[in-house]
Amino acid sequence: MPSGEYDPDAAEARWQRRWVENETFAYPEAQADSDTAFAIDTPPPTVSGNLHWGHVYGSILQDIVARFHRMNGSDVLFPFGYDDNGIASERLAERELGIRHQDFERREFQRKCREVCREYETDFTEKMQGVGLSIDWTNTYRTISPEVQRISQLSFIDLYEKDREYRQEAPAIWCPECETAISQVETEDDERDSHFHDIAFEVVEADPERSDYDADSPDEFTISTTRPELLPACVAVFVHPDDEENEALVGTHARIPIFGQEVPILEDERVDMETGSGIVMCCTFGDQTDIEWYQAHDLPLRVAIDESGHLTEEAGPYEGMHSSEAREAIVSDLEDEGALLDRRAITHTVNVHERCGVGVEFLVTEQWYVEVLDKIDEYLEAGRKMEWFPEKMFTRYQHWVEGLQWDWCISRQRSSGIPFPVWYCAECDAEVIADKTDLPVDPLSDNPPVDVCPECGHDEFIPEDDVLDTWATSSLTPLINAGWDWDADAGEFTMDRPEIYPMDVRPQGHDIISFWLFHTVIKCYEHTGEVPFESTMINGMVLDENREKMSKSKGNVVEPDTVMDQFPVDAARFWAAGSAIGDDLPYQEKGLRAGEKLIRKLWNASKLVESLAPDPYPDEPDDLEELDRWLLAEIDREIERLTTRLENREFSKARDGLRTFFWGTFCDDYLEIAKQREDASAEYTLRTAHRRFVKLFAPFLAHVSEEIWHAEYAAGADGEAAESVHLSEWPEPLGLSADHDAGELAMAVVGALRKYKSAEQLPLNAPLEVVEVYGNVSGFEDDITGVMHVEDLRMYPDAEAPVETVTTGIDLAYATVGPKYGDTIADIEAGIAEGDYELVDDELHVAGVELAPDEFEIETERQYRGEGTLLDADDAVVIVRSDGE
Ligand SMILES: [Zn+2]
Ligand SMILES: [Zn+2]
Repeated sequence: MPSGEYDPDAAEARWQRRWVENETFAYPEAQADSDTAFAIDTPPPTVSGNLHWGHVYGSILQDIVARFHRMNGSDVLFPFGYDDNGIASERLAERELGIRHQDFERREFQRKCREVCREYETDFTEKMQGVGLSIDWTNTYRTISPEVQRISQLSFIDLYEKDREYRQEAPAIWCPECETAISQVETEDDERDSHFHDIAFEVVEADPERSDYDADSPDEFTISTTRPELLPACVAVFVHPDDEENEALVGTHARIPIFGQEVPILEDERVDMETGSGIVMCCTFGDQTDIEWYQAHDLPLRVAIDESGHLTEEAGPYEGMHSSEAREAIVSDLEDEGALLDRRAITHTVNVHERCGVGVEFLVTEQWYVEVLDKIDEYLEAGRKMEWFPEKMFTRYQHWVEGLQWDWCISRQRSSGIPFPVWYCAECDAEVIADKTDLPVDPLSDNPPVDVCPECGHDEFIPEDDVLDTWATSSLTPLINAGWDWDADAGEFTMDRPEIYPMDVRPQGHDIISFWLFHTVIKCYEHTGEVPFESTMINGMVLDENREKMSKSKGNVVEPDTVMDQFPVDAARFWAAGSAIGDDLPYQEKGLRAGEKLIRKLWNASKLVESLAPDPYPDEPDDLEELDRWLLAEIDREIERLTTRLENREFSKARDGLRTFFWGTFCDDYLEIAKQREDASAEYTLRTAHRRFVKLFAPFLAHVSEEIWHAEYAAGADGEAAESVHLSEWPEPLGLSADHDAGELAMAVVGALRKYKSAEQLPLNAPLEVVEVYGNVSGFEDDITGVMHVEDLRMYPDAEAPVETVTTGIDLAYATVGPKYGDTIADIEAGIAEGDYELVDDELHVAGVELAPDEFEIETERQYRGEGTLLDADDAVVIVRSDGE
């Protein structure tokens, strides 16, 4: 071991550099076995240059999993990708280069994007390496690269050939701000301030031919709406079939105020009778019910709002106004006409585009869809096939799948992104799909694979200029990692690394279960017939110290970069591992400080072991002392516990269990005893135990354990040598048997005697004449007498100890007692202080009241009235006295 203190700044940077240079964590070039391959589908971050807690925290948990499985004999593929084909990278490139994507040919613009992103990615890679992740940096991908574009287009073609995609002109969810169709997953509900407007509609033209014609039908009715700017798009009015009050209106027509169009008044069960007057207008389109009515009742289409959220010529004088501006103008004109009966402020839920926060519209446009709704049950089942860590997160998947109302719209009206490999016949609109061998293609600059239309023989084609939804590509990461491709000769899809598919773990945040996980499951499932993951591991978010979301506006953001400057990376790793999987984790400095302390403890304990047992690989003695056998057997148990916990992704339990065991049993108890021994059994045990601890800590404290391993064990002995602790084998239990309870008690006795000597200011080798132990330490007598210099150890495993337990006080549970007894508290306290109380069954009778068992706690103390001194050693009674006493 190097002399002096551990220097994390120097050591961590050094190991991070060596791991990368030596390609310590590279996945084997030659094809691994599917039984030993262990693959993690690392979330590819969007390139922005900044390291967020989401990256750091989630990555550390993934890294613990990677290191654990690597040490357990797996060939771990821990790849890294960048998601740089989205709108964020497009904007970044425009900003950096001072250009507009519209001014470039698409392929040219993408080249520029890639250049800009590359610089940011280099920077980001360095930062990720600074967290000490055991990522295979030789295995990286970029979603904008030609290779990934090829996979994305192959996926489109495969689904098209499997009849899982269709093109349709129909109402689609539309963002008027971003001017593109979006999918259901990109919308979210938001509470907004608005107004309810009660508007008078005039009844016209009652139909005397109808059997339910009612000459007394009212000549006016009221409709309440938050969106009066949709009046020009109104195509019908609906009443619930059970609505007796308004049934006379059915069959008549209504005239729309200001705009004058006359629309039928119809019945439909989808009307909510509880809202407003129970009479609603149907516009094309205000919401999803409008779409259903439009389809079910075969209503005409009146488009009043265009792609950019401005009113069309259907809106007459309001044409060209933005919808928000038109709303105010129309309300004011309704008021002038006397048709505005009331206007009141409300707060209501608005469906908005999650990226820009603007309320969505529904526009009839031609879009490409992946069919989803017909297989809801199958996709639910696919989700259920994965093991979920934590299990409760499956319900999020389930709720999302069960709440689906739309097929997945995958076309986006943006100019950059991955193109559709599609052209259309200019004459008959037939779809011409690219040849798989030609991918990636850009129909805007490449020619279709045919000279004439296979349907009609026409020779002109129109390229599809939409691009694919970014999730249509990022949902292919398992196939990207597996090197999925089309083999034209064999006429089938192949994988470079079939052994990693399905992947073992999909780690990700809970906020993108509906985005990334769901879409990956359905796409990969359709392509391969298999669910792409064995398990999914969902992490929470990092909150501030008060468990509140970090946000710039609140000023409570703690940047990971700053923290990494102040604390060792291993301390951050220790803190991150203190989370229950799926739960949010508050950023707490005390958690990092506890990590620092543990690093120091491990370092100092290692130096002590080195001084007590200089040979790192001593021979196993013929006979192990009982205490040594016991310690190694205890470590066996800890290995089993820790292994199970890590397999179950119970990070905090794993971390805390190991820390407590190492600190308490090994450092506080065993090492203190070992300091006073000099024998082959102790030396062997010290080294065996120490080597095991270094390995067990390696997934958590990746750097300091490597530093210690390198100094002590890397040179190796038979079977144990490994250049890196992370490539060494996870310890197997030795299978030693020992009396766990007796050993533990012996430890407690030794600890108690040591404390006694130090309290009495006796040297540690001072003889103790008589020590009586009321408890079972059989087998460990020699350890106790030898280490603590006990001349006469008397053990009474079954005898009753000559002590009595007396009540020394009563603690009130103030949280419940305070509010319950109020002013009586002072009397209760006085009664307890004066001993003026009685314990009846489990109740405390004092000051005229009876306290239930959960309202107080009895404090007791063991008292000994004989000769000598009573010591506290866990549950056992230990008495020290001199001979003859
Ligand atoms: Zn938008
Ligand atoms: Zn044609």
